[in-house]
Amino acid sequence: MIRYIFITGGVVSSLGKGIASAAMGALLQARGYGVRLRKLDPYLNVDPGTMSPRQHGEVFVTDDGAETDLDLGHYERFTGVSARKSDNITTGQIYRKILERERRGDYLGATIQVIPHVTDAIKEFVLADPGEGVDFVLCEIGGTVGDIEGLPFFEAIRQLGQELGPERAVFVHLTLLPYIPAAGEMKTKPTQHSVKELRSIGIQPDILLCRCDRAIPETEKKKIASFCNVRPSSVIEARDVGHIYDVPAAYHTEGLDAEVLSHFRIGEAAPAPNLERWEQIAGRIHNPDGEVCIGLVGKYTDVPDAYKSVMEALDHGGLANKVGVDIRLIDSEQFDDEHRPLDILEGVHGIILPGGFGERGARGKMRAARFARERKVPCFGICYGMQLSVIEAARNMAGIELATTTEFEDEGEPLVALMEEWTRGNQKEIRTADTDKGGTMRLGAYPAQLKEGSLVREIYGADLIHERHRHRYEVNAGYLKQLEEAGMLFSGLSPDGLLPEIFELPGHPWFVGVQFHPELKSRPFQPHPLFASFIGAAVKQSRLV
Ligand code: GLN
Repeated sequence: MIRYIFITGGVVSSLGKGIASAAMGALLQARGYGVRLRKLDPYLNVDPGTMSPRQHGEVFVTDDGAETDLDLGHYERFTGVSARKSDNITTGQIYRKILERERRGDYLGATIQVIPHVTDAIKEFVLADPGEGVDFVLCEIGGTVGDIEGLPFFEAIRQLGQELGPERAVFVHLTLLPYIPAAGEMKTKPTQHSVKELRSIGIQPDILLCRCDRAIPETEKKKIASFCNVRPSSVIEARDVGHIYDVPAAYHTEGLDAEVLSHFRIGEAAPAPNLERWEQIAGRIHNPDGEVCIGLVGKYTDVPDAYKSVMEALDHGGLANKVGVDIRLIDSEQFDDEHRPLDILEGVHGIILPGGFGERGARGKMRAARFARERKVPCFGICYGMQLSVIEAARNMAGIELATTTEFEDEGEPLVALMEEWTRGNQKEIRTADTDKGGTMRLGAYPAQLKEGSLVREIYGADLIHERHRHRYEVNAGYLKQLEEAGMLFSGLSPDGLLPEIFELPGHPWFVGVQFHPELKSRPFQPHPLFASFIGAAVKQSRLV
């Protein structure tokens, strides 16, 4: 029997609903249950693929090629369960599907309405087969209760609560208990109002997860329980912790998993959780053997959420090497100007050039790549970071002075271009043919063949890998010979040999560029081998400087 946990949020956004859901999933998993996490996003975009990182943060890509909410990244990292296309839905997707059906005449003349058509589509998404061995499906509703666009989602889960009954559905509501210094008190009123809002649309929360910066006095817990109509044991303290990976153990101490299970009346029968791996992670995070400093050179450094998975994967690389990672976010745009010195990069032990789009900040990234190459600082180029590193090396190592990418320059040597351009003789009109911007990229997992004797072959310990992609442009294979003669090694190619997936610089302490996004597959318990190796190289570098 599959049980459903619905997680809603109130009071304010950014309370960490994604991490709370992921941590809850991890706790159930630690008790031996199978979990799947799903995210319902009420916004109108079909997916976050076309949204600016400034609006939405990172776009998380699944193996099966969906561009999804970054919370799915938290779900994967906390539970190790790979997310699928069918784990994230938006209002845009639902309406698109309904309107297509309506145009086909599938509704046989019926009037299409929010209730039941939209709510039925939401319920269908929630109930869709979660796969083998799943005991709990955790569904997080984006936004906060009271948002107009969220209403159909709340209505759908309300109906599901009725249809499934309390033995198969539980409602968890995440709220905030602000502390008002002038009064010297923790305030429960916003939580009361938020629950009132939820009850006004027919949902009585079963468990309240209360974010706070200090312990909740027992008197306040009782007050919340009585005003919000929940058991006192269902008011769970979710206090700020030092690191996100401390959250599962903290929630367990506060009794969250026990409360969920007792709601389902399986509390007594449930095995105790094995939290050993979380304890190990926490031990490494809080007692590192030294620290390395990594410069992350990108365009969206003012919105760190844009690099969520990259930053997490760097931390995982630190866990693998038992060191802390101090990530210095460096705005690449400031180096677009040739005259700006790169002194901010002096003393970093490694440089990471993440993915990105467009012209702004691109020259700055190329200058950072050149700095790393010439000064022999470990450097990791990801997607756009890889493409720009190839262009830099083409210009300054292979003497192809006009090397560029057709992403922002039509003139010059198309070292990086749309595949159609370089396979069909650089026909530029193909670029403009593309009007639908959604889903026009190479998305999801693709295989790459690694060359015997290369650094990456040794790092992965395998000759065939599968990594997730999200890009339109590719390194132009027509230039590979010339680049290899100049000292680069294209050590990973698509199995048909057409698409360069990885390059490295033999003779450099550690310089690897990858066309894919390895950060999306890194997990605290299984740090991605490239990130583990990169941080290992940074540790060596830190002993030199
Ligand atoms: N802008 C580049 C492309 O579309 C790289 C994309 C990325 O870094 N994700 O190919």
